[in-house]
Amino acid sequence: MITPKEVLKNFYGYDSFRGQQEAIIQSILKKQDTIVLMPTGGGKSVCYQIPAMVNEGLTLVISPLIALMKDQVDALNGIGIAAAYLNSSQSTSEQRFVSEEIKSGKLKLLYVAPERLFGGVFPLTETLKTTPISLVAIDEAHCVSQWGHDFRPDYLMIGRLRQELPSVPFAALTATADKQTRADIADKLGLKNPKWFISSFDRPNITYRIVPKRNSFDKLLGFLEYHHKNSGIIYCLSRKNVEDMADRLQAAGLSALPYHAGLDRQTRAKHQEKFIKDEVKIMVATIAFGMGIDKSNVRFVVHMNMPQNVEGYYQETGRAGRDGLPSDALLFYSYADVMTLQRMIDTPENPDYSEVMLAKLDKMKHFCQSTTCRRRYLLGYFDEEEKKDCGNCDRCLSKGNKQDMTMPSQMLLSAIVRLKESYGLGYCILVLRGSKSAKVQEDHKALSVYGVGKDKSEDFWKKLGQHLQQEGYLAEAGTQFPTLKLTTTAWEKLKSREKFLLNMEEGALEHQKRSTPY
Ligand code: ADP
Ligand code: ZN
Repeated sequence: MITPKEVLKNFYGYDSFRGQQEAIIQSILKKQDTIVLMPTGGGKSVCYQIPAMVNEGLTLVISPLIALMKDQVDALNGIGIAAAYLNSSQSTSEQRFVSEEIKSGKLKLLYVAPERLFGGVFPLTETLKTTPISLVAIDEAHCVSQWGHDFRPDYLMIGRLRQELPSVPFAALTATADKQTRADIADKLGLKNPKWFISSFDRPNITYRIVPKRNSFDKLLGFLEYHHKNSGIIYCLSRKNVEDMADRLQAAGLSALPYHAGLDRQTRAKHQEKFIKDEVKIMVATIAFGMGIDKSNVRFVVHMNMPQNVEGYYQETGRAGRDGLPSDALLFYSYADVMTLQRMIDTPENPDYSEVMLAKLDKMKHFCQSTTCRRRYLLGYFDEEEKKDCGNCDRCLSKGNKQDMTMPSQMLLSAIVRLKESYGLGYCILVLRGSKSAKVQEDHKALSVYGVGKDKSEDFWKKLGQHLQQEGYLAEAGTQFPTLKLTTTAWEKLKSREKFLLNMEEGALEHQKRSTPY
């Protein structure tokens, strides 16, 4: 018999298990009902695929995502694992073919949509009576719960399957489930004294940022400039928003394509493939995009609108940084979005469900508005207690010892404006410090800002310039040589007479560089 480790090495090409994978596989091989909570990208699939290979017989994988079954099965076939799928998108003859394959006993994994269990042309349960089943794996198991954020009534049929297959182990896997949903999963699936595996949900390499939606497109462009070499996903609320955003980004010269359910299948497949192969950098999408997409170097995920709930937000942002490298999650928040979502969710057809979803929406709003460490809030939401602030979210990064830098900031910014935004930082400093150089004497001695900053060192002004740039008040421009210009944020700040509070400590800049300035 082949061992789990050998399957991992020979089929997947990995040398060692990650986190709790090995223990989960052992639990399943002992025929224990097992529940796995692991964040997106944690490596849930091998937890049931490896037992499928080790065991005699067929593993049934129940998945809600018909659109992804083909990809998943293709990937398995690609590494030499006999897998197939059955769903309503197939023709009768295709389904008959798979049915024959099941009977032949060659298949190791069969992916099915839950509605195919007891219905369809060939009710699966009939076929299964003659085929030994070694395991039933339920992917996206939170779909069985009304308390979850993605309830699918068809999932309730799995409970019936449990009764028909009393001695087969069931494994339920999900990336998102709050406390209420967890209890419900075990209950609704009829799991027997299940063994729980709850991995930490922390994704320490993701920097969470939530910013007000004012001037969101300008802010987005700044953010994308920082990420100009990187791949990322920008989520928009509607198909129309997706189209508009993709157009605007293309017009700005960026490598972006749209993805939403309104595009035909071929176009969707083409755009997705280009993104995966790094032929296009930015995928502008509705939340239909990303489920099950295995792209490890997604460096950023942007939400142009607030998601409906924390589970959704966490799942979507979780698509960034699967390779463990520093990545950004940026969300544009506005109260108007909260109201739009409220109207969308609050429907009279299903008042109980609306109530649950409205409560979830309220928590999402709370998350956006709260002034505490973003990561602590998120982990707390998933019942994981975190005692320390993370140091890698917008709230943590903007703490530290802020100083009032209003006066010198105003001086530097007005010097830049008086110099018609046509010079670099070095020259602006010469003017501010009243340089005697010939060029300054000739051209700019008469400016009101000439010499007003001579009581401070050149180093001080340089550092201030860098901080102002880092905080998004100054942007580099110019074609011949780099010049500085004020951003909209800077103009707004000057107009509103707000203070410039900056953390000027050594190291603050470095710390921020690692995440995103814009
Ligand atoms: P999930 O379903 O939890 O989102 P996946 O099962 O898609 O995650 O796994 C995420 C990525 O991690 C995949 O590329 C997978 O091949 C890889 N992976 C899984 N287990 C290991 C392992 N033990 N070592 C290295 N990579 C792994
Ligand atoms: Zn934090």
